[in-house]
Amino acid sequence: MYTIGIDIGSTTSKCVILRDGAEIVSRALFTGGIGTKSPEKSLEETLRRGGLERSDLAAAAATGYGRNRWEGADWQLSELSCHAMGAHQLFPDVRTIIDIGGQDAKVIALNADGRMQNFLMNDKCAAGTGRFLDVMAAVLQTPVADFGDLAAQAGAHAPISSTCTVFAESEVISQLANGVELCDLVAGICDSVAARVAAQAKRLGVTPRVCMSGGVAYNGGVRAALEKELGTEIAVSPLAQYMGALGAARYAWEKKQKEHTTQG
Ligand code: ADP
Repeated sequence: MYTIGIDIGSTTSKCVILRDGAEIVSRALFTGGIGTKSPEKSLEETLRRGGLERSDLAAAAATGYGRNRWEGADWQLSELSCHAMGAHQLFPDVRTIIDIGGQDAKVIALNADGRMQNFLMNDKCAAGTGRFLDVMAAVLQTPVADFGDLAAQAGAHAPISSTCTVFAESEVISQLANGVELCDLVAGICDSVAARVAAQAKRLGVTPRVCMSGGVAYNGGVRAALEKELGTEIAVSPLAQYMGALGAARYAWEKKQKEHTTQG
């Protein structure tokens, strides 16, 4: 049985197709989230890569910020539950997830079955989210995908004192004008995001093992700074950005199984 999970975020759309709730058959991601053509494109591309048609799919579950605007789903599921389930598929012993996406940051506590137990979310302020990093990347004219390597080369991290994204942008521009090295600035920017998210994580309580989900998980600068702040290793999968879609596909499978059991 094939099930699909689609995660329509603020910044990207991602899909995962599972066979029998376990094996990842295909996946695709397109930049552009709610209000764009990316959800449809990522669905089509995931089907194409898997050599499947829509009619091959037994069920579809949507999650993410734009889940309620997706008409093709059998279920709309909370991002928190889907990230917890996706993380559990990849790292069964994980009990804390730090999910940093394009517009929010969530810290999620989960149990041994992959069910969400508790969470804290910041969706009010761009600082501490991918948005902050993307704004700084534009100011520095440097791809955010290079931040990890640059931060690793930093000599002295340049501290960013403003927590507000707009003020921090001016601060970065003036530090650049004062000749601060790019890698030191990038490291300071990553530290700033990590400090905010670490404070959020400490408020919830951090139980090892910890993993990251969301696109910012690929930013080695933020990850290293978070590990330092929290004093624990953080697991990251190459599928970190697909965690919500993966969890949704798994939930779609579980729900379909339940239907079969009750009907049978
Ligand atoms: P959402 O689910 O809210 O749409 P994502 O989980 O897709 O967000 O994360 C988007 C963020 O991920 C971007 O704002 C960007 O900062 C970050 N990101 C994506 N790819 C990379 C990468 N290769 N390296 C570093 N950061 C990345």
